[in-house]
Amino acid sequence: MIDLDHNATTRPLPQAVEAAREAMTASYANPSSVHRGGQDARRAVELARVSMAALIGAAPKALTFCSCGTESIDLAIRSALATAPGGRSVIVTTAVEHAAVRELVDHVAKREGAEVRLAPLDAEGIVDVGRLAPLLDARVRLVSVQWCNNETGAIQPIDQVSALAKARSGAACLVHTDAVQRVGKLPIDLRDPALGAIDLLSLSAHKFHGPKGVGALWVRPGIPLWARLLGTQELGRRAGTENVPGIAGAGAAGEATAQWLADEPARTHLGALRDRFEAAVLDGATRAGVRALVNGPRDSARRLWNTTNIGFEGLQAEAILLMLSERGVWASAGAACSSGSLDPSPVLLAMGVPEPVAHGSVRFSIGRFTTGQELDEAARIVVECVARLR
Ligand code: PLP
Repeated sequence: MIDLDHNATTRPLPQAVEAAREAMTASYANPSSVHRGGQDARRAVELARVSMAALIGAAPKALTFCSCGTESIDLAIRSALATAPGGRSVIVTTAVEHAAVRELVDHVAKREGAEVRLAPLDAEGIVDVGRLAPLLDARVRLVSVQWCNNETGAIQPIDQVSALAKARSGAACLVHTDAVQRVGKLPIDLRDPALGAIDLLSLSAHKFHGPKGVGALWVRPGIPLWARLLGTQELGRRAGTENVPGIAGAGAAGEATAQWLADEPARTHLGALRDRFEAAVLDGATRAGVRALVNGPRDSARRLWNTTNIGFEGLQAEAILLMLSERGVWASAGAACSSGSLDPSPVLLAMGVPEPVAHGSVRFSIGRFTTGQELDEAARIVVECVARLR
């Protein structure tokens, strides 16, 4: 099996599994209990908070654990709207957000009267900052723009977007970023003044070799958070007995990930392997008579090191994925949660990818343990499959 589906999820690290196992056996007590067992569980949760916060250069206290990236996004967006001063009901976002943002924003627009404005994008799906200013006025409460795209790997200029939002819409305009695909793949330091206009950030542990079902929301100190689940845990910001095994596993994964992120040459090497895979697939498909092109940024500096989204014109992505799966290669079409649907990815369509290309687009996302040998083998298999399907 060659796993090229790391933007969908990643294999939990052995130390994450061990930490979760420990929390399900020895430290199984309720972290709110005052006895020694409770204290052990509390220690596991708080140590995890420290290592997760370190991944983004944040103070641990500013991080609230929740059940997934989707919940973190929900909490951020609903909280921004619930605490909005009068007259502020506009959300500025993009058409290339993950469904967790897209569907929620659609919902609050239809059901709760929020006005939504979509930021202009360039042909590679990146916010065109030069054309963003007219959308940002004194009615904007929230700007929610992803940091990295799950389908194409496009990196948004969140520093410029957030600074412009504050400059044009004022301090009462909050900036949220869905950083689920960035955290664990590239370093983040929220102490950097260039990121000083970001107020809320969402992350999810299963994207960096932690367990599923653990997300977190970072909130800049001083920004009010409106709780959706009421009670006492997480300082009243998100009630419910903590998922101690998941959180402990996430903490262990976060600690290992921080060490890995310090190794920039390793990322550069993986990026070069991704480039070699991409070139081999494009070349092989063309030779087989299939027009193939990269969706999203071509320039590696504007894209995550691990992602390539390739459109095979005239083919059906589902057929390619099934054939690849039979040959032991895992990949996705669009977001994993929408695979199985025959509709082309709304994100690709919003970027202006023509339908016949969007229908045949496959996302390959490598991981930190992917090898050059695996990628060479996978490229050969991909080319054989698209040649047969043609
Ligand atoms: N945002 C992005 C960009 C994602 O890729 C995902 C997961 O695929 C999510 C949010 C949702 O995260 P979770 O699966 O933890 O709910």
